[in-house]
Parts: sequence; C-alpha cells; structure tokens
Amino acid sequence: MEVELSVVVPVFNEVENIPELHRRLTKVLQELVESYEILFVDDGSSDRSWAAIHVLASGDDHVRGLSFSRNFGHQMAFAAGLDHANGRAVVIMDADLQDPPEVIPELVAQWREGHEVVYAQRARREGETIFKVFTAATFYRLLKRITSVSIPVDTGDFRLMSARAVEAFRRMPERHRFTRAMVAWMGFRQIGVSYVRAARRAGETKYTLSKMVRLANDAVTSFSHVPLLAALWLGVAALVLGLGGGLVFTVTRLAGVWVSTHWGLMAGMLTLAGAQLVALGLLGEWVGRIYEEVKRRPLYLVQDVVGFPPSPPST
Ligand code: UDP
Ligand code: MG
Repeated sequence: MEVELSVVVPVFNEVENIPELHRRLTKVLQELVESYEILFVDDGSSDRSWAAIHVLASGDDHVRGLSFSRNFGHQMAFAAGLDHANGRAVVIMDADLQDPPEVIPELVAQWREGHEVVYAQRARREGETIFKVFTAATFYRLLKRITSVSIPVDTGDFRLMSARAVEAFRRMPERHRFTRAMVAWMGFRQIGVSYVRAARRAGETKYTLSKMVRLANDAVTSFSHVPLLAALWLGVAALVLGLGGGLVFTVTRLAGVWVSTHWGLMAGMLTLAGAQLVALGLLGEWVGRIYEEVKRRPLYLVQDVVGFPPSPPST
C-alpha cells in the first residue's frame, strides 16, 4: 500500500513524548498530504514505549510500529524504518520533538520542487549543553576536512528522502552506519532547509557519551582513510629526517670534523623507524581498499537515462 508520505521515528524509551509527537504530526500531515503513515521503530525500549505505540495504532490506522528484539541503536532503527516505509517520500525524525513536525511542510515543498533529499539544517540549537554544542561543532568541521564526501555541517538526521533516494539507501548494506554521510554520498539533487532545533520535550538524552563516541568512530572510519594513512606520512617524515641526518653525519665525519656518534645512531634509528612506519602505511592502504570492497556499496547510482527503451515503472 503506497502512501504519499511516510514518517519514520526511532524510539528508545520515549514514552512521554510519543502521544504529543503523534498529535503534532497528525495536525501537520492531515492538511499537507493526501495519504501518510507514521512508522515508529522501537529500538528495544525498556519503558512502556511499545505499549504507547500499540495504543496509538489501535486508534489511528496511519500508525504503524515495529519493535526490535533489543537495542540496536539509532542508525539501525533508521535502516529498518527506511526498509519498511511505503511512502513516495520518507521523512526521518527524532521522537523527542527536537525536530519540530512543523518543519515538514518546508521539506515537502522542496521535494515537490524536484529535490530527492531535503535535509534540515540547524540555524540554532535550544536547550543543549555547551559541551554537546561544542563537541558537535568541532566534530563536524573535523569530519569535513578528512572525508571525501561533502557532508553538510550542522545537519542531523532529520530529513526527507524521495522513494528513489530511499531505494538507493537500501542498496547500502554496510554494518557500521552513519546515515547522514551515507545520504550525502548518494548524490542526487539535495538541498537544505534551515530550522531552529528545539529542546528535548521530556526525558533525558538517549545518546550516552559512549554511544556518541561510537557514532563518531563509525563516521570517521566509514568515510575516511586518513587515520590509516597517518602512519605513512609520519614514516616518510622520519625517513627523510633519518636519511638526511645520516648523510650530514657521514659527510662531516669524512671531512674530518668530529661529531658525536650519538647523532649517527640517532639518524640510523630514525631511518629504521621511518621504514617501518612506511611499511605500515602501505599495509594501511591495502586494508583501506579491502574495507572499501567489503562495504559492498553500489558502484554508481543512475540519475537519468535518455534514448533507452521505456523503462519499467520505478518504485
Ligand atoms: N534513539 C534510538 N536508539 C538509541 C538511542 C536513541 O532509537 O539507542 C532515538 C531516541 O529515542 C530519539 C533519537 O534516537 O528519538 C535521538 O536520540 P536523543 O534525542 O536521545 O539524542 P540527542 O538529541 O540527545 O542527540
Ligand atoms: Mg534529542
């Protein structure tokens, strides 16, 4: 059953927020689109979130729910939601009302203009700790420098994707997932819409520090080989220094000027250490390639074709 718009909401212990989110979403969606579904993905909540989703589903047939056998994490909840959504466009958003449902009409407007991905960009954040704002800002700027994918800054996962973009996303079976960068990697016509990120409505953040560190680690290692190659650069620097130093040492000694043997030993050590690091860096290059291969991402995504016989209707 295809609908015009699906809204995917990952839920982890959000029982206080679910009814209010449903109320505000319903208000927005009813006048925005002709048909819609709200798909809650319960990521192994230990509170009564799943019961709350059941209650909503029994009173509103726009509501669908899916619950995980345990906590698999926010990014996996997105994957499941996007796998099960039937909309011609899909919005993904958090359950805590930090992503205001009232922004959805702007996302939909850009989609109707022909964009395949419309991401919501934070103009401002409300009610977040200085620590969170600072670490997030620093992290995204660092990430931008070391990855080849251009990930828009100040952008979370709140976004709309067309059915075609969702289809492409489903073809990325990698296990360590960083949704916003995967979507950026896909290309197509993408555009940002700016919004004010609200404070969490109720409850505590479900992103513990350890979950945040894991996400950051996935982001860096899935989209950059820079750390793998760091050894190579360090090795080259040590090698140049060692060989250069060794040369200077030998020439000075041969010229009859006495320099301490320590300098010669030092040059030898630098040369050896450099050689080892270079070898490690080269290994890193191959490990990086192996990693690229095992991700099994699609080789390319087609935007348009012309002159081919009529294609079967796209999904
Ligand atoms: N969430 C999830 N699984 C987790 C952690 C979080 O599905 O393991 C959901 C959570 O219920 C919320 C969204 O992901 O809908 C964002 O989490 P949160 O608001 O706690 O993160 P923050 O906004 O503090 O970064
Ligand atoms: Mg939040």
